[in-house]
Amino acid sequence: MKSVLITIGDEILSGNTVDTNSNFIAAQLKSIGIPVVQIFTISDEVEIIKKTLASAFELADLVITTGGLGPTRDDRTKTAFAEFFDDKLTLDDETFEHLKKLMIKRKREHLLEINKNQAVTLFSATVFQNENGTAPCQMIEKEGKTAICLPGVPYEVKPLIKDKIIPHLKEKLNSNYIVSRFISVVDFPESLLAKTIENWELGLPETVSLSYLPVGNRVKLRLTASGNDPEEIENLLNVESEKLRPLIGEKVISWDGSDIQEIMKEILKDKKMTLSVAESCTGGELSRLITSVSGSSAYFLGGVIPYDYHKKIEILGVSEKTVREKTVVSEEVAQEMSLGCQKLFGSDISLSTTGVAGPNSDEFNTEVGVVFYSVRVKDAEKTVRLFLPHLERNDFVNFVSQRVLQDLVQILVNDF
Ligand code: ATP
Ligand code: MG
Repeated sequence: MKSVLITIGDEILSGNTVDTNSNFIAAQLKSIGIPVVQIFTISDEVEIIKKTLASAFELADLVITTGGLGPTRDDRTKTAFAEFFDDKLTLDDETFEHLKKLMIKRKREHLLEINKNQAVTLFSATVFQNENGTAPCQMIEKEGKTAICLPGVPYEVKPLIKDKIIPHLKEKLNSNYIVSRFISVVDFPESLLAKTIENWELGLPETVSLSYLPVGNRVKLRLTASGNDPEEIENLLNVESEKLRPLIGEKVISWDGSDIQEIMKEILKDKKMTLSVAESCTGGELSRLITSVSGSSAYFLGGVIPYDYHKKIEILGVSEKTVREKTVVSEEVAQEMSLGCQKLFGSDISLSTTGVAGPNSDEFNTEVGVVFYSVRVKDAEKTVRLFLPHLERNDFVNFVSQRVLQDLVQILVNDF
């Protein structure tokens, strides 16, 4: 870990104040093995602070600022941090309570309202309360970068650095291991999912973080934990994900897999089933996804792309009558395609897609964005119609391919 220090304040630039914060912080960081690679002194302007933060993060993964956190208009560090990290500023109850106590202790309760702004913190920040002043120290950790802002007054800076920041960084340096786990949830709108697991999320230990990654109609929950013992981290993740079972267990298709094709591989290998695909509107993407997994030859027998409808008839035995009567983008054609494909390859499972990705329609004047896909597992079959007019061609193909595999996985998990 390398660090950059930024001292903020016109009084330093004008020569009225000598910067003593930087050398104190640099020495403290050095004592735990974190070198300071550059020190900036800048004026208290939002744009300049933001620009300097950007330059600092090009040099280091830890940036510490001092100054510009006061209640006055010329203190703009917080605003700059909020804009830089795309975060919100909100009143923090705990900080406000701390401020209140401090004001009472100093017999300045009447000034509480004016100082209320000091309890407004960055929404994503960890707050370290300032025992010697009104501005708290805040820390934002995002994408491997850590930014810490401190007040300017040296006798406030020193104890914050010594008693709070250094112990925290020390622990962080020891926490070298980071483990992620992906839990795949289907058929659960993200907002509802978030609500359902809200209490669980709030109860997660501090070393575990959660993010939502939507793919197709699946939501991947990524649990990331850090610590200095990999086995302990694994155990912690086991314990935390186990708590999700009664809440969303029915909708989980994988407790530890990232891509749908990887999840499918495990299931197909486990069930010893084979797979083939007949894809029209997905143009080979479905096969590409399936074969992107090493070892897929154990279950994937092959695929065809009968793009022209005559080829659907010729290769897959789709009936001409069905095409004429129902048009090529229809439930019936999707079903006949998967049936023909299953026979052609002699596979347990076959998948088919037929649709119009746009921007232009087909010769049957099918509405752009309509797609039917069929999932056939042994004698069982399921056809789904989707309408995705808002998706651009490539996104359409990706979305449909993801969906088909997700549906297959869901069917295999629930019914086979
Ligand atoms: P305040 O609540 O006092 O406004 P602040 O976080 O806004 O705190 P500044 O306004 O930037 O901090 O600075 C407050 C005072 O602290 C300055 O007037 C100066 O005397 C001192 N100070 C600020 N930065 C430094 C520094 N880098 N080194 C030494 N003293 C500093
Ligand atoms: Mg000030």
